[in-house]
Amino acid sequence: MKTTRALSLLVILLPLVASIGCRSLVNEPVAAYGWPRVYKDIQEYPARQFSYYEFRPDRPIVDRINWKASEVLRYLRDYDSKPQYKIYEPSPVEKKQIERYFKLLPPAYQETVKKYVTGIYFIEDFWGNGLTEWVLGPDKKIYTFVVFDKSTLKQTIPQLLQKRDSTCFHPAPDYRLSIASNSRELGILYMMAHEFTHVLDYVYNITPYVDSSSKFLKQHPLLTDRLMAGTWAEYDKIVPQKFFAEQPKITFYGFRKGPHLSYLQIQQIWPGMAANGLASLYAAQNWAEDLAELASCYILCDYWGYSLRSDLYHKNQKILSWQPQKQKEIRKRIEEFKKTLNKLAEEKA
Ligand SMILES: [Zn+2]
Repeated sequence: MKTTRALSLLVILLPLVASIGCRSLVNEPVAAYGWPRVYKDIQEYPARQFSYYEFRPDRPIVDRINWKASEVLRYLRDYDSKPQYKIYEPSPVEKKQIERYFKLLPPAYQETVKKYVTGIYFIEDFWGNGLTEWVLGPDKKIYTFVVFDKSTLKQTIPQLLQKRDSTCFHPAPDYRLSIASNSRELGILYMMAHEFTHVLDYVYNITPYVDSSSKFLKQHPLLTDRLMAGTWAEYDKIVPQKFFAEQPKITFYGFRKGPHLSYLQIQQIWPGMAANGLASLYAAQNWAEDLAELASCYILCDYWGYSLRSDLYHKNQKILSWQPQKQKEIRKRIEEFKKTLNKLAEEKA
């Protein structure tokens, strides 16, 4: 999910009753969906409807990759106002790699994705590295579809994260943010951990809600109130006692008219992130991205055992470093996340 994108969609008040012969499964009044945006999406986009997909949870994960999905493409083109979007079909070698990577994810991830992801799509020149969106199933049950940028199949994890995190800052010739890792795996491995955490969150409600539209569809009771409470007062507002002034200015890929920060402000940002247990710059946006990045940090560094470090260079001289997996608050929150995964496993047993 990307909140900034959600805001770019116009909310159009629709008639209270669905028209006769409408292709949508929605035949309840808009009030039943809590917010016109939700109602509009379900009405207008079959990509939001479970019945659109040929859902086969018994089939291998690569069978979920679809390159003929015109309705999902139409949704994404409208959503981002990018009519030029094209779907990319991964090569046989890339599909094998995805299959291999999928089996490296924690069991709770594999199980949830198999049960609740209706389709996986790769887009050329996507606006960001990935996106997870809800799909409305029977009895208002939440399913999801997941989108990745094609570059996640071409770049390594550090390359992908460096490209992403550098978009926070005004370009400056003397400064460079570098991400170092001993992993040379492809970025899609990291992005599966990130996007599939959103899937877990949509389905099992780990944060209070993943995006403002999905809060009207949630079915599962909040899985934990310990993970987010010490950091977030609201969706994108840090608790006053831990607030740092640069946090609201953290943007990516030019969203929210960014970038709004200079590289030297990292001197204030990294301590602010450490105090809040935020695992990356991307995590500092809101509680949903915080969870996705905390979980990805856990999976990359603890579960797979890779290192991860950000370095700020000035004229090729390293002036600052940051290692998320060594921060005390992040360690505490990772332990809490592991407890949450265990609780989920117990619930399913
Ligand atoms: Zn995300």
